[in-house]
Amino acid sequence: MTVEAHKETLEFKAEVSQVLDLVISSLYSNKEIFLRELISNASDAAEKLRFESLTDEELLEDDPNLRVRVLVDKDAGTITVSDNGIGLTRQEAIDTIGSIASSGTRQFAEALRAAQGEADKDKASGDALIGQFGVGFYSAYIVADKVTLVSRRAGLTAEHGVRWASDGRGSYSLETVEKPTRGTEVILHLKDGEKEFLDAWRLRTIIGKFSDHIAIPVEMQKEDVGGDDEAKEDEDKEKGDEAKEPKFEQVNKGTALWMRSKAEISDDDYKAFYKHISHDFEEPLAWAHNRVEGTNEYTALLYLPKRAPWDLWDREQKHGVKLYVKRVFIMDEADKLMPHWLRFVKGVVDSDDLPLNVSREILQHNRKIDTIRGANVKRVLGLLESMARDEPEKYQEFWGEFGRVLKEGPAEDFQHRERIGGLLRFASTHIDEDTQSISLDAYIERMKEGQKDIYYITADSPAAARHSPHLEVFRKKGVEVLLLSDRVDEWLVSHLHEFKGKHLQSVTKGKLDLGELADKADQDKAEQAAKEHGDLLKRLKGSLGQRVNEVRVSTRLVDSPACIVVGEHDMSANLARVLKAVGQEAPDMKPILEVNLDHPLVKRLEAESDQAKFDDLGLILLDQAQLAEGGQLDDPAAFVGRLNKLMMQMFMSGV
Ligand code: ADP
Ligand code: MG
Repeated sequence: MTVEAHKETLEFKAEVSQVLDLVISSLYSNKEIFLRELISNASDAAEKLRFESLTDEELLEDDPNLRVRVLVDKDAGTITVSDNGIGLTRQEAIDTIGSIASSGTRQFAEALRAAQGEADKDKASGDALIGQFGVGFYSAYIVADKVTLVSRRAGLTAEHGVRWASDGRGSYSLETVEKPTRGTEVILHLKDGEKEFLDAWRLRTIIGKFSDHIAIPVEMQKEDVGGDDEAKEDEDKEKGDEAKEPKFEQVNKGTALWMRSKAEISDDDYKAFYKHISHDFEEPLAWAHNRVEGTNEYTALLYLPKRAPWDLWDREQKHGVKLYVKRVFIMDEADKLMPHWLRFVKGVVDSDDLPLNVSREILQHNRKIDTIRGANVKRVLGLLESMARDEPEKYQEFWGEFGRVLKEGPAEDFQHRERIGGLLRFASTHIDEDTQSISLDAYIERMKEGQKDIYYITADSPAAARHSPHLEVFRKKGVEVLLLSDRVDEWLVSHLHEFKGKHLQSVTKGKLDLGELADKADQDKAEQAAKEHGDLLKRLKGSLGQRVNEVRVSTRLVDSPACIVVGEHDMSANLARVLKAVGQEAPDMKPILEVNLDHPLVKRLEAESDQAKFDDLGLILLDQAQLAEGGQLDDPAAFVGRLNKLMMQMFMSGV
């Protein structure tokens, strides 16, 4: 091969300069990614060499330790990212760096062309587009007004080096140079306004943020990292010549924990890594580490935290799963990797098959991502299921922190409704305390002979649920009722209609249908009573007027005189309250008043001949039934007025 020692100036192919302008203006708010891109290219080059050296050991020359170095030259105003990776030939430099052959940028240019048909290529459309495509090597021009790349392909001799240089304005120069060491150096001549990047600590922080778990070590010069320059100089003088040899230290961790085999990773390693990625002081509750091979290869390491973060209920809360592609950090908070109802899960997904320049927009519609997300959900469900089964106390701890989030699941994930259902825990009339510890499976096991449905009540506090008059008949018959009082519960039961073939039935809705549990005699008695006491029901409806839809005889009450019921398909009174409390529209529903004919108060009412008194008593009955539900009265003063009047009458009649 002859060495072309000439220097030439070449035009960029296609729209490189156009793309460059967009890159620079669009990424200005996110400048520091240039370092991620360059380190990632350097580490790619090292990994390529590592791969090729498997079959050609000579490529490693006498320098087998692959690494990336980031050097700062304050006087020259430059940052250099160098690697001892595969390097570039002159032709490769033309083909890759000098053209927009690289995947992301080419796609970007194509999309740009397409977009030009519709709109002017203004900055706004550029902004929208740039997010969809990676920027790679050209991101160097965000902070540099001149970039020089010096490279030599592994396996070629020193005189086959190439120097590429460009100010990014349409052309570049190419020159053959001597380069004794293999690999590539990219030298950024920083713009005047970007000298902040000459601060070694700043660079170190950026490396820690983006490149910590790249499997290739990233090194910086010791002096660059150390603090006291003068002290260093003195030291150097003392040491004489020897000290002139620059010393490097590794600034990234340099190992991707999730890529190591499970057998090699101790629990302590897992815990330390969790703290690193989650910024949580506590240890994780559990984790799952999986490697998936095949057409969509990736590794997932997912953690369940012990404690809910303070912003768990913040709508804007960031998701905790980081996306890596081939060990290169791509993005934090990749919400496409975990659904909203599992937003508390932290961890890493590292894909071997996604393009490195993947962006949020690409993630929106990517099959591979959908598959990964689906598998992640299954993994977390599996983790929770085995914890619930084998470590119920630990699961209870989890439920206390994140149960309310998991309750969002059935509404969001139709496919896994049943599995999520199996993980739910509730308070119930079966136990005395208000802890949510009863599973639907446990409920089903305790169901009475002949019981068809899973019964629940929703109320706005555990006490209101537990003491609701609606539970009286269930207590009497020994039928368990789930007590739901979290806000999200209404949302949950409006999406989880059944579990394992059993219908979930609110005890405050519709006609009470106890199925085979109902006492036939009771039922007949109630029907008979409705006929016999038709007058009372009519009179009451007359007194209550538009405030109720219907007045009927109750089969659910034992100790209370009356209760409020809503129609089977109406919104529950509790949900209407929740909606109003958060400032949303709720339909003004008219409830049904059910009365307990066996109750002395109702008997006394029936005997009341004074119509004005009857009206007052009827209204009090309705209002107190509403209060017993945890509801609010539209006109509490009127209620108090009637009650006081009643008390006065009692005193005056000497009761
Ligand atoms: P991508 O990394 O997505 O391919 P880039 O714009 O980052 O896009 O890089 C374009 C190409 O330039 C790379 O694919 C690679 O062939 C070449 N390249 C960039 N940096 C280096 C390097 N340090 N060593 C070897 N080749 C490099
Ligand atoms: Mg790249």
